[in-house]
Amino acid sequence: MSLSVFDLRKLGYFSSPTKSGVMRWYLGERPMGSVHLFSHQGEWLRCSYQYENDDRSLSLTLIKTRCFFGGIRFWLSCPQCKRRVAILYLHGGNVRCRLCHGLGYRSSQTTHVGHVGALIRFLQLDNRAEDQYLDRRSKYWKGRLTKHHQRWLSRRIKMKQAGKAVVDRLAGHGY
Ligand SMILES: [Zn+2]
Repeated sequence: MSLSVFDLRKLGYFSSPTKSGVMRWYLGERPMGSVHLFSHQGEWLRCSYQYENDDRSLSLTLIKTRCFFGGIRFWLSCPQCKRRVAILYLHGGNVRCRLCHGLGYRSSQTTHVGHVGALIRFLQLDNRAEDQYLDRRSKYWKGRLTKHHQRWLSRRIKMKQAGKAVVDRLAGHGY
């Protein structure tokens, strides 16, 4: 269950002097939870919710930064680490950022490995395709390498070196 500045802005929690409402989360049709919200002057946002029949309430500090192209951007401050974040999560009765909930590190690392893994697979496939192509293509005309093929070859050799450098670098970092 996430509370994001994007949703809050869309719903007018930052633009009205005061605004109250309810945020509800569903899993399919099933209600997962809800939070009563009350914002004041774009300064703070109070969240009231229930956890195991216990009423809980906390005020989140809103942080404002100036956008490069004008206007104000709103952020939430994590109640635990005080970091400026765009999204807070309600899990186990607590409102925290990804990192404080212990979600951030693991999932971002998985994504990272996933992207890097995909890059490695791509480069390996690219190298293999390259080798096959070099073997098959007729590169000679009257017993000499054609100009077109020479240019192609030097460009591909550079590309291949760059690709190998990436693979070596990543492999060296334990990916
Ligand atoms: Zn935090």
